[in-house]
Amino acid sequence: MTDVLALLREMQAGDLPVHGGRTLAYVYDSGLTEVDRIGREAVAAYAASNGLDPTSFPSLLAMENELVGFACDLLDAPPSAVGTVTSGGTESVLLAVQAARDGAPDVSSPNIVVPTTVHAAFHKAAHYFGVPVRAVPVDASFRADVAAMADAVDSSTVLVVGSAPSYAHGVVDDIPALAALAASRGIRCHVDACIGGWVLPYAARLGRSVPPWTFAVPGVTSVSVDTHKYGYAPKGTSLLLHRSSQLRRPQFFASADWPGYTMLNATMQSTKSGGPLAGAWAVMRHLGTSGYERLAAEVFEAVDRIVAGLPAGLTVVVPPDSTLVALACDASMDAFTVCDEMKLRGWYVQPQMSYAGAPPTIHLSVSAATLAHVDELRLSLAESVSAARRSRPVEVGQGVADFIAALDPSALSDDDFDGLLAASGLLTDPSAGLALPERMAPVNAMLDLASPALREALLIAFLDRLSRPARP
Ligand SMILES: *Cc1c(COP(=O)(O)O)cnc(C)c1O
Repeated sequence: MTDVLALLREMQAGDLPVHGGRTLAYVYDSGLTEVDRIGREAVAAYAASNGLDPTSFPSLLAMENELVGFACDLLDAPPSAVGTVTSGGTESVLLAVQAARDGAPDVSSPNIVVPTTVHAAFHKAAHYFGVPVRAVPVDASFRADVAAMADAVDSSTVLVVGSAPSYAHGVVDDIPALAALAASRGIRCHVDACIGGWVLPYAARLGRSVPPWTFAVPGVTSVSVDTHKYGYAPKGTSLLLHRSSQLRRPQFFASADWPGYTMLNATMQSTKSGGPLAGAWAVMRHLGTSGYERLAAEVFEAVDRIVAGLPAGLTVVVPPDSTLVALACDASMDAFTVCDEMKLRGWYVQPQMSYAGAPPTIHLSVSAATLAHVDELRLSLAESVSAARRSRPVEVGQGVADFIAALDPSALSDDDFDGLLAASGLLTDPSAGLALPERMAPVNAMLDLASPALREALLIAFLDRLSRPARP
């Protein structure tokens, strides 16, 4: 008999490491093996329990209410506040937009007004729910331009959004001004604190200067916060909090219009594993306020030391308000090569493409576990900068650049995609299928030349090629 678990471990060894503090995107690492073990065992214990029906699995309802209660205290929520555990930040955002849309049934063509730095999940919500996003350019500090957003709001706007902080730049928008704007027009204001919501309150308690953004700000009607980020919980949970149960009501769905059980859901999933909720609850109960305070002190110490110790040639795009650092490179190197060089040294840092006239940057989501390795990180960054300078910025050949310039994202055909793969040297042997190159910089530099719409079309074509059944 095959030892499938041994096989799994072998396969997983090719993935990014989720422990060790060297993966600075996608994973959030407390550095505490006990936290990992408790989360894992709680997930396993509840893997087959079904969150579909809280009356049949009352322990799941109890855990959800405790988790929401903890978050309410953390986020200065009034006694009227309620919340829901979702599967992740994207689902929390989708539901916030859906509730805003359905909470304004008199608006026939609803829109939402957001800063351009808002998470892509809002564009996904627009795509799913037919609620156009009015994305308003940000100011020079990468924060929402509130006056310009006010101009974009009209009688069909159902939601104004701000971030605490934004993913790409790690800065907190002027939430009091955005919430006042929304309140003055009688509409909802959502704060996307998916990534900052579980760490900024502790930063404030540590005496760091944190701009106001919680439910303490009048006019904030909902907040999203991910437990699977700085709650250091296993993947698969986020919370969506509303200031009142009336505001949440449109989020619920019931259907008795079939011969089976009356379907009654607060989230997009119906049958859902109890595992992630149990994992988040267990980690929250284990760490508690004092545990999170300690982890926040560690992560902010790491952020401060990273920012203070950057090698010449790398600068912060903007001083971070939270635990996310965006780095810009001088002209002697390119960001994509620095990311590749970091990978060679055992670090994952995330390339961010150029956008709205700003050049590519390097994103770091710093975790508590990174503190123990900050000196190595600084050394690796310095070495990566030297190596990136030696190899000079990646240049995309004129032929490929011309090819990209001629592509129409709205009509990208399979032939176009094959042509690009051939021109870029990515698909040397078509029968062997797609394989990612060791160095991503040439691919990223190519994508960076493309418009956002073309990047989307190319990446969708790419994902389509990757996702094919394996039939032995
Ligand atoms: C991560 C993130 C999201 C989306 O969360 P997922 O859990 O990846 O679905 C939304 N907003 C912000 C600001 C985020 O950082």
